[in-house]
Amino acid sequence: MHPCTVFGQGVGASAGRGEGRFRHYWRMPFWIDTHCHLDAPEFAADRAAMRARAAAAGVGHCVLPAVAAFNFDAVRHLAHEFEDSYALGIHPLCVKDAQEGDLALLDAELGRHRSDPRLVAVGEIGLDFFVPELTQSPLRERQEHFYREQLLLARKHGLPVILHVRRSADRLLKYLRELVPPGDGWQGIGHAFNGSLQQAEEFLKLGFKLGFGGAVTFDRALQLRRLATELPLSAMVLETDSPDIAPHWLYTTAEQRSQGQAQGRNEPAELPRIAAVIAGLRGITVDELAQAARSNTLAALPGLVPLLPC
Ligand SMILES: [Zn+2]
Repeated sequence: MHPCTVFGQGVGASAGRGEGRFRHYWRMPFWIDTHCHLDAPEFAADRAAMRARAAAAGVGHCVLPAVAAFNFDAVRHLAHEFEDSYALGIHPLCVKDAQEGDLALLDAELGRHRSDPRLVAVGEIGLDFFVPELTQSPLRERQEHFYREQLLLARKHGLPVILHVRRSADRLLKYLRELVPPGDGWQGIGHAFNGSLQQAEEFLKLGFKLGFGGAVTFDRALQLRRLATELPLSAMVLETDSPDIAPHWLYTTAEQRSQGQAQGRNEPAELPRIAAVIAGLRGITVDELAQAARSNTLAALPGLVPLLPC
């Protein structure tokens, strides 16, 4: 269902019934989930219902990043089916199984679909130095090789990038600085950002916005909560990373899981509740956060401009 349909029905139904009702519909926050893996097998049984739940909750647009060559077609098809958008790229955790030829395939796919208005970025790409195996040779170098080559492809095709940042902020920044595109520089999102304030500021200087999601809902996430509070509002975009990074109300502990309880599945419909936590931390209204997050998202991913209702 297109977000216009939801809003259009509200406005149409209210015509002639008074301005108050009209205003009510248009004041409903419009949320953008800038990072969700709707093609994940976790959603196989109820994907359309899950997307409809998100729309009903006010999540009017989702950005679907790819993770490897095997899901390039899936994210593109789903973005068209749900009237969302997508990114193409090879995730650092998928580099181990990726072939060198996948970079050429990515280049070809970006070229083939460059005029597709729903292709809005290269991603998800980056470096993951959390998983110990990936911090050592040869996977460390292999990650860096795939990351650098994909930054070059983003430059070549004139697309923003969606970055996976896990214990890797400084190294990611090094390559971004080396390869700044001529003209306006970088655009894009540091997704699930969890670095220091200083590192955050370096990404902002390079033109990035930073993605916040379910991790911020945990009381014990002190550093992340401070970051979500201290950064300028112009820095922030919102995401769920569905089906991962469950907010605290869906999270099951290791003990609960050992007793057979499944990890809670995150989905885009959770975004407004996650946003309410962030708005509460910052002492602003959810409307203010929704509006700022929307304009920040459009700055990071300008390809969304023609896709969203005005
Ligand atoms: Zn992701």
